[in-house]
Amino acid sequence: MYDISIKGGLCLVGDEFTRANIGIQGNRIAYVGREDIRGEVEIMADKKLVVPGLFNAHTHLAMTVLRGYVEDMPLMEWLRRVWEIEARLTPKDIYWGSILGILEMIKTGTTAFSDMYFHMDEVARAVGESGMRAVLSYGMIEKGDEEKGRNELETGTEFIKEWDGAFSGRIKAVFGPHAPYTCSPGFLMKVKERAEELDTLIHIHVAETKHEFEEIKQKYGKTPVKFLDDMGFLSKRVIIAHAVWVENEEIRILKKRGVSVVHNPVSNLKLASGIARVREMLRAGVNVCLGTDGAASNNTYNMFEEIKLASLLQKVATTRADALKAADVLKMATRNGYVAYGIEGGELKEGMLADIILLDAKSFNYLPLYNPLYSIVYAGYGCEVTHVIVDGELIMDDRNVLTIDEEKVVDRVESTVSDLIEGLRPRG
Ligand SMILES: [Zn+2]
Repeated sequence: MYDISIKGGLCLVGDEFTRANIGIQGNRIAYVGREDIRGEVEIMADKKLVVPGLFNAHTHLAMTVLRGYVEDMPLMEWLRRVWEIEARLTPKDIYWGSILGILEMIKTGTTAFSDMYFHMDEVARAVGESGMRAVLSYGMIEKGDEEKGRNELETGTEFIKEWDGAFSGRIKAVFGPHAPYTCSPGFLMKVKERAEELDTLIHIHVAETKHEFEEIKQKYGKTPVKFLDDMGFLSKRVIIAHAVWVENEEIRILKKRGVSVVHNPVSNLKLASGIARVREMLRAGVNVCLGTDGAASNNTYNMFEEIKLASLLQKVATTRADALKAADVLKMATRNGYVAYGIEGGELKEGMLADIILLDAKSFNYLPLYNPLYSIVYAGYGCEVTHVIVDGELIMDDRNVLTIDEEKVVDRVESTVSDLIEGLRPRG
């Protein structure tokens, strides 16, 4: 008798969809096969597709409260307005913004995410209550100021010590130096040393925009990835978000050092950053995963949008319709995220963590279901997600999110945002 059995679904096992039963014991997948199995909880899945949960590998979760606040502006002006309101965010805003973001993720099939922001205790609390899995980092900005650097590193370290492994291991806490243009080389190397001491990872933005590429080149005489490699910063511990502006030699460096890359197609389009060279990176053997980035530059946490766009962008950028195939992009959205962050999941295989989603195989947008893979990748909305299991716990059952009170979230988010905006009105 398993804790949960998922019966008769069309399951993505390896690269193929096959009818199978899945048994979950504790927080792991204990059985995948054709034998008739029983569970304390049984989910009839004969009309479902069963796939590994999606991993959103780069977010600033609580930016939900800024969603739609400022749009259609040149990047620097947009950033000025975003920073102005971000400086006013309270722990309460961060908490409710995080819960709202997690609600959206659960409903659209995400089982794990990697977040970098501030007031991270609130994000951790939201993760704990919601049943989600997350990699969390306090976003450190030092700008060459030594004292600020010491304080930032201390805050980042304290966060890791307090939260790493919390909620039976659902939280993994890592370092999050913001970017090479907001952190000096000296500071980045201190972060690297500390990450080695604590045996943890580093999540950082690198080579997002042409502006950054030119700025680093001018300041240090090298392009961003090469600059980081020459100082000895890059290793398997490092996960870089974006990598839009990378040269051929830098792709080889990423592979050689074992660095993972998070591709954020919607954000890169919306902020007009460019198209990352995903096909080349994958062909070179770099582990590339997918993310949404923050809700202010997306504006959703729906990974199905990223999946489709990631594939389409490579096709148009290379004028090859086979540039990024459905199976590969789905792997980017699942397995590769788990691999990047060293978490044993992202596959329907015995021994893996039980992070699993069920999709309605009869959903209008999937029909006719010639090939489930193509339906998921090219016709997915997110509305077809019916069940979500994280760490062996059912957190969405037949589209009901069991861990979050949706009405309360709507209410609290609206009131917290009205306080926030109220404070912005000029006085007198
Ligand atoms: Zn970001």
